[in-house]
Amino acid sequence: MTERVIALVDAGRHQPLPPPVPQVAGPARDRLGRVLRDLRISVTDRCNFRCVYCMPKEVFGKDYPYLAHDQLLSFEEIARLAQVFVDQGIEKIRLTGGEPLLRRNIEHLVEMLAAIKLPDGRSVELTLTTNGSLLAKKARALRDAGLHRVTVSLDALDDPTFMAMNDADFPVAKVLAGIAAADAAGLAPVKINMVVKRGVNEHSILPMARRFKGSGHVLRFIEFMDVGATNGWRMDDVIPSSEIIRLIGAQLPLEPVDRNYPGEVAERWRYRDGSGEIGVISSVTQAFCRSCTRARISTEGMLYTCLFATSGYDFRALLRGGKSDAEIRAAIAAVWAARADRYSEIRTAQTARERKIEMSYIGG
Ligand code: SF4
Repeated sequence: MTERVIALVDAGRHQPLPPPVPQVAGPARDRLGRVLRDLRISVTDRCNFRCVYCMPKEVFGKDYPYLAHDQLLSFEEIARLAQVFVDQGIEKIRLTGGEPLLRRNIEHLVEMLAAIKLPDGRSVELTLTTNGSLLAKKARALRDAGLHRVTVSLDALDDPTFMAMNDADFPVAKVLAGIAAADAAGLAPVKINMVVKRGVNEHSILPMARRFKGSGHVLRFIEFMDVGATNGWRMDDVIPSSEIIRLIGAQLPLEPVDRNYPGEVAERWRYRDGSGEIGVISSVTQAFCRSCTRARISTEGMLYTCLFATSGYDFRALLRGGKSDAEIRAAIAAVWAARADRYSEIRTAQTARERKIEMSYIGG
């Protein structure tokens, strides 16, 4: 009898806030000297796909205890928290999930967040990661609401392989239509994320590269990661990015390009014929923790300082407990100052089995 895997999503696993730290001028730095610059906000724990590397159907079935609506942060709470994070140094906000476009009236939240200004008057950079299933319908409205760019997950071009990865009866054509709609709405360049799992979709690497070469969009290949505790991760199922670059480069010559900015997750490669670029995200074989500037807010207001965290900090309690913005800001400063996460540098077969927070709960 197969052992039933229980996902770790409950807020029960939260740590007390660290002691307060003196407010410093300039960006907050953690214990490895990294600044707090990027905030990922998960707006729903639900999704209409069941990607095997994120939300396997056998765990996230129809009777799965998803969060009740009143447990989710409201749009007003998200916008308030985002403003306080921006005051603490955040410059970029990414909306995630689950599938963020499933959250009703998400355009309204985008509008509220797009109005947030950095201390120097610039607008906060606002992006969103989606599986593309609802993008064709929503792209224009999201753009009009103030969204800057989208990242679309697409793991193959043929339906059988795509469905083997997303375990949902959803055709590739509709996701491609979503990418085209995002492009037409001005949410370009669209970044396209392909998670590669050995034995499932590596035969799609070259067809995907050919499909998006010269399109203006940036295809990124993501190493299969031991996120959460439910995707049955094994190192044997990981195809290292170096192998992906070799495979593509043999057919479509590539050359390395510098990252756009410190902390950029993807390693960039451009086609020698000038027809665009691709990226690889190598959390397993080439850790990039030393430049990680990301914090994550879960669907119900927990703050996590690493994608592979096992516990977080309850900021919903601060929001609903009558704390002032200054008190919440001080709590952010204390959490960040105490941060020393570098999971990808210390990953072992044993740590891979730790009960980590589910990616569908805190966003990729
Ligand atoms: S493993 Fe954690 S610390 Fe390292 S890059 Fe990923 S989120 Fe950042």
